[in-house]
Amino acid sequence: MRALVYQGPKDVAVVDVPDARIEAPTDAVVRITTTNICGSDLHMYEGRTDIETGRTFGHENMGVVEEVGSGVTRLKKGDRVSLPFNIACGHCRNCTEGRTAFCLETNPGTAGAAFGFADMGPYQGGQAEYLRVPFADFNALHLPQGTEHENDFTMLSDIFPTGWHGVELSGLRPGDSVVVMGAGPVGLMAALSAQIKGASAVYVVDRAPDRLALAEKMGAVAVDDSKGDPVEQLLELTDGVGTDRGVEAVGWQAHDHTGAEKPGTTIETLVGSVRATGGIGVVGVFVPQDPGAATEGAKEGRFAFPYGDFWFKGLSMGTGQANVKAYNRQLRDLIIAGKASPGSIVSHELSLADGPDAYKNFDDRVDGWTKVLLHP
Ligand SMILES: [Zn+2]
Ligand SMILES: [Zn+2]
Repeated sequence: MRALVYQGPKDVAVVDVPDARIEAPTDAVVRITTTNICGSDLHMYEGRTDIETGRTFGHENMGVVEEVGSGVTRLKKGDRVSLPFNIACGHCRNCTEGRTAFCLETNPGTAGAAFGFADMGPYQGGQAEYLRVPFADFNALHLPQGTEHENDFTMLSDIFPTGWHGVELSGLRPGDSVVVMGAGPVGLMAALSAQIKGASAVYVVDRAPDRLALAEKMGAVAVDDSKGDPVEQLLELTDGVGTDRGVEAVGWQAHDHTGAEKPGTTIETLVGSVRATGGIGVVGVFVPQDPGAATEGAKEGRFAFPYGDFWFKGLSMGTGQANVKAYNRQLRDLIIAGKASPGSIVSHELSLADGPDAYKNFDDRVDGWTKVLLHP
């Protein structure tokens, strides 16, 4: 089968790989209809992780069940499914508590596994014609048959639940205001989620005009941090008080408002702009190892942030990857009910063969490349 594989920094190619197949009775093989390129794929694409060459990328996958193992009872050939990026066993301590992003069984020695991702187990990704899905009965979410809402449902594998999780971690209650750092796909999904959850005001900080325009389309107030210190801008917009909540949707490869890469700058902005006793949810990716980092500390995932201010203001912070299964059923039903259209951020729908070009354009932040879907 054809698959998009990593060949080295800024080098991916579509090549022939061994067919995805049933390896355990609890597996299914899914024929991929849509697989998205994610901002977190770019960390690997740029060579900023220890992902090995030859691995297939792709953790945002949906498709149609092609084959099931002898132990699979809930799924059958022909079912249309969304696949959470988390690969979870369903029976370990964390899975039974609903924390499927931190499964203790599918990536032994650490907590949490994912398709096609650095440090998240040996699993191939879904930017391919077919994907092997472990513990398929537990992981797959049924979708209505057919092709309706394909671009909305494809956001259920990662970014819609991840944006929702960021807002959840921030502790947002109806009527609260919130600032979202980053108007990439996850930041936009956080803005959408905050609107659905009843935020009184949503501010989104970025500098890319195309992304900020999408944030405004979602009813958010765009804050362009190339025009000045975002903390000052946010305090001005909130009469000096700050917002009730903050969401980090950038990750460690963040840039400060002068344009210099500075890990932790988004957290610093949130500590400065969220009001005392408010909450911060961090769903942008931070990694323990970054071999390509500029400083020794950053190579080990260490960075400074104003902990004194954080503590003095009594802020709280929740972190980590989204437990997709905690939210994807409800978010699917919001889509079916016509109350959420996360697919509105899609800018490009391409074939698998177009994948390498798409990576380049998305990585270069070429204007208008906001969210790319591949249809293998
Ligand atoms: Zn993703
Ligand atoms: Zn588990």
